[in-house]
Amino acid sequence: MNKIPPLDLSQQYKLIAQEVSLAVGKVLASGYYIGGSEVEQFEQQFGEYIGVSECIGCNSGTDALFLALRALDIGPGDEVIVPAFTFIATAEVVSAVGATPVFVDIEANTFNLDVDQVKSAITSQTKAIIPVHLFGQSVNMTRLMAIAQTHHLAVIEDCAQATGATWDGQKVGCIGDIGCFSFFPTKNLGACGDGGAVTTNDQAIAAKMRMIKDHGQSSKYNSAVVGINSRLDTLQAAILNVKLRYLDQWNAQRSHIARRYHQLLGAVPGLTVPQELPDGQSVWNQYTVRVEHRSTDLIFDRNVVRAQLAERGISTMVYYPVPLHLQSLYQNLDYQPGQFPVAEQLSQEVLSLPIFPELTTVQQDCVIYAIKDCLSQ
Ligand SMILES: *Cc1c(COP(=O)(O)O)cnc(C)c1O
Repeated sequence: MNKIPPLDLSQQYKLIAQEVSLAVGKVLASGYYIGGSEVEQFEQQFGEYIGVSECIGCNSGTDALFLALRALDIGPGDEVIVPAFTFIATAEVVSAVGATPVFVDIEANTFNLDVDQVKSAITSQTKAIIPVHLFGQSVNMTRLMAIAQTHHLAVIEDCAQATGATWDGQKVGCIGDIGCFSFFPTKNLGACGDGGAVTTNDQAIAAKMRMIKDHGQSSKYNSAVVGINSRLDTLQAAILNVKLRYLDQWNAQRSHIARRYHQLLGAVPGLTVPQELPDGQSVWNQYTVRVEHRSTDLIFDRNVVRAQLAERGISTMVYYPVPLHLQSLYQNLDYQPGQFPVAEQLSQEVLSLPIFPELTTVQQDCVIYAIKDCLSQ
């Protein structure tokens, strides 16, 4: 039996191998491996794609978040609101700059932070909110921006999983003060290694991020603040320039696959498919279903379903098994189990199914058949 992986990047490479070889060969032959026209071209074109005036490449999505927080002067004594259910990097960077992450629960239907709960988490120390557009779907940015404006809080969008997603016709990453992107290979626009970018329409913030990512230098060999070394490599930029041209097509293919999952899995008892909000367009970095947890019936257990699918050669992923407020890293913040019931329940129920542009209909049918079979035993 053919195995179905959660993602297969070699398929995508085959499609663009010639263009990538040409672009990479050109960089290698030039003898210039840091900065240069490939990086400039990518920053310009990606900024245009997102709809911002300023785009700055950096080493990773994690660095992008770090640069954003530093540029907004967020540090010790400050609080930053983040969802309790996301990849650790979102909260980790808040701690890395010396500030305190303040967790809020998520909505069961979108997996995204519950905007109503953001309001009650605001204190006199709050400086910013980091909405995470999880699994490819935008947070309700209309409501979030209204709260941020009322309370004079900065908004840093974590767009790592949502390159190309929109809210109310605008791309995520141009709605808040700063957008943070990751080009980790599994993201919708993935490099062949690490990469990231920050986007903004604020020139002063952009200038600060440029300085901090380059050792805090205000001019060559004059450092004004403590910075880091965070660069988007020339080789990665050359590859991303090729891939950016395919991004909309790949996102459309993901969307097609998601629609088929909706149609064919939407009515399976015990399974909940992800909901797409009408004002936004998800780019489906993950297609995450919930296997309802029934303690009386062992079939209805995410881990059992996952193991049975694995036996049939179907790889699934669990994003994320432990909510952030229960990570041992954050023991000192004194959160308790039960405090964010939705995040805690979903961490036991979520299962991300194979979704990538090259997934064939036959492969998808195998996944669908296997899930239905597992849940009807
Ligand atoms: C991938 C990811 C990041 C971090 O990006 P890296 O490029 O791996 O550093 C941050 N936030 C979220 C939600 C992510 O999925």
